[in-house]
Amino acid sequence: MKIICIGQNDLAHIRELNSVIPSEPVFFLKPESALLMEPASFTLPDFSKEIHHEIEVVLKINRTGKKIPENSAEQYYDQLTVGIDFTARDIQQELKAKRLPWEKAKSFDGSACVGTWMTKNHFSSVDHLGFHLKVNGTVKQIGNTADLIFSFKKLIVFISQFMTLYPHDLIFTGTPAGVGPVQKGDILEGFLENEKLFALNIK
Ligand code: ZN
Repeated sequence: MKIICIGQNDLAHIRELNSVIPSEPVFFLKPESALLMEPASFTLPDFSKEIHHEIEVVLKINRTGKKIPENSAEQYYDQLTVGIDFTARDIQQELKAKRLPWEKAKSFDGSACVGTWMTKNHFSSVDHLGFHLKVNGTVKQIGNTADLIFSFKKLIVFISQFMTLYPHDLIFTGTPAGVGPVQKGDILEGFLENEKLFALNIK
């Protein structure tokens, strides 16, 4: 199982990180060991002073596919949820400055939190899904899948040109604006439409 994360898939988030609008999706991987095993709590790692939350819609691949055409891409997942791509922003900035890979900042143990899975059919359309993150009861990030630069279908088509997708692979589809640091004691709650799909204590 692999976790594929999409970077910079929302215009407002690209602006807040002073990044350039990509002409094709940017992706990176997290290993299976990055999956948060205790889904109710996240322990801050000791190697970073700035762990950021990035709420994202997550897709679960349900069949094997390579070079998937756009007209069948929707058939490659039937469950989705929201999750957090935890990011050691201080370390990521150092790595970016040195033009080094991001794994130290993005792929550490527990850095991929995944909420309760919903079937795609539960929603009338995946193209206009609202999602948001509350930190200590205050909304900090609001997104809508209509604002993604690259749609779910386009992401599946693009990724599968380079790597075979297998059942249980996860795709984190990119975060909206409003990323920020988490502190010990914070409570993070993730919503897809009006369904609360995770609640996480930061320890
Ligand atoms: Zn992300």
